[in-house]
Parts: sequence; C-alpha cells; structure tokens
Amino acid sequence: MVRGNEIFGRRGLLNQMSDLTQDIKRILEDQVAIAGNFLPLPNDPGSHTPEISHTPEISHTPNLGSQASDLGEPGEPDERWSRFLSLIPPDSPLHQMTTLEQITEYVANTVLVPIDETRINPVPGVGNPNADLMVIGEAPGADEDKKGEPFVGRAGRLLDKILAAVNFARNDIFIANILKSRPTRNRDPKPDEIEAHLPILLRQITIVRPKLILCVGRVAGNVITGQNSTLKALRQRNFHDFHGVPLMVTYHPAALLRSEQYKRPTWEDVKALRARYDELVNANV
Ligand code: URA
Repeated sequence: MVRGNEIFGRRGLLNQMSDLTQDIKRILEDQVAIAGNFLPLPNDPGSHTPEISHTPEISHTPNLGSQASDLGEPGEPDERWSRFLSLIPPDSPLHQMTTLEQITEYVANTVLVPIDETRINPVPGVGNPNADLMVIGEAPGADEDKKGEPFVGRAGRLLDKILAAVNFARNDIFIANILKSRPTRNRDPKPDEIEAHLPILLRQITIVRPKLILCVGRVAGNVITGQNSTLKALRQRNFHDFHGVPLMVTYHPAALLRSEQYKRPTWEDVKALRARYDELVNANV
C-alpha cells in the first residue's frame, strides 16, 4: 500500500528529475552550439594555446576607457572616430594612413619594440575592412606568428566556432590583437609593447569603424577599457562604452579550452552580443 506522502514524495522526485533532464539538455545544446562535434581535446597535437592566465602589468597604459557622457549625440557619429584619433600620438605616421593595407605595410616594415625583430611574421589583423563587428585579442601565439594571421591556432578555431554559433562568419568580421608581434614564449605583453602597438589598433578601428567590439580575455579587456580588473568584473558591465562604440569583454577561447566552466557564460555573452549587433545594424547607427 502506498501512503499519500509517498506519492507526493515520488512526484516531487519525478519533477526534480524532469527539471534536471531539461537542464542537462539545455547545457548540452549550448555546448554543441559552441563547440560542435569538434571540441578540441586537451592534447590535440599540433596546436598551441598561448598562455594568458597571468596578471598583466598595465598600469603604464593610457586610460582608454570612457564614460557614458562620451557618447556622441545622435546624428554625429563621426565624433567617435576623432576621439580615437586623438588617442594616437600626434607625431605618429599612422595619422597619414587611410587604408588597412597601408597599416599592414607599416607593421611589416617598422620595428617599434624588440619583439618586432624576434617575430617570424607580423600579425596586423585580418577580415572585412567594413566589418560591423571587430574582435580584439591579446597577442599572437606561435601558430599566428608562423602564419601572420590572428587566431589561427587551437583557440582561434574555437573562437570561429563560438562566433559561428551566433552566425558570425570569420570573413564578415575584423580580427586583430593589441600586439602585432608575438611576445617571446607567449609571455604577457609589456607596458612599452602595449604603448607602442596600441595606436596601430586604434587606427585600424578608425578605418574599419565597427558598430560593436568584442574583446576576448582579461588582458585585452583591461588594456582597452583602461582598467586592472578581473575578467568577472569586466563582464559584469555587460557592454562598456568605448568612446561611443559598445564593447563587450568575454572569456578568451584559450580559457574555455582549459576550463569547461567558462563555456556557459561565454555562450550567454555571445548571444547578447548578437542581439546588440542586430539592434545596431537594424537601427543603422
Ligand atoms: N590569442 C590571442 O589573444 N590572439 C591570437 O591571435 C591568438 C591567440
């Protein structure tokens, strides 16, 4: 004989199991959407993930973050690009350059800091020169150094999948790093390297004129927003105002390769990124 409270107890358990099944299903769907069936295994041969888990020394970098009051008035969007230009030293030859090709040539032919001499290839950036979305990472790793293109290693392949899960193809966006040369043994960018290379990225931004920027990883997020925060803190302010351009900071794909726990928050971030992108593109701002 079954007593009433046993029935309720079993029903409760059944409900809980059903909820749990739904949760597991949702998590698996999200993970498949991000990593597909090609989730790289920890010992994937031939791939290299740069180390990014160290505290950057960024206290010497200019504060690039801006407050909401920096937002241009509607109807005068070009104000934003002048603000970016004003962050580039006035005597920099970058001011004379008006195309991404000129910048690529400049990066290839100029030694600003010692890593520009030790690199195999410069990694200026790649993608659609009219992209509405720009993705910014920290610095090239070994694979990028070999190929001269950002995010082509294991972390880069995951980045492609993450973006593809919210319908961004690599060809549609522009991808660049703060540093255009690989730091020796993938160490953290040094303050003088950031100071030397950041103006190049700023000039690229003024040429591409993206509607939205995604920074991946704590180092890129801190350099761009002028903070010295944890990634969690950088994420909490979902979109930053980067001189009038909405900017999101999310986990670096290399962090996702190391730790599954970052996948769900990253998935939430890129969904929000896509929604904001659609809003901005539809509103044509
Ligand atoms: N990590 C980065 O931050 N940038 C790359 O290009 C590759 C790995």
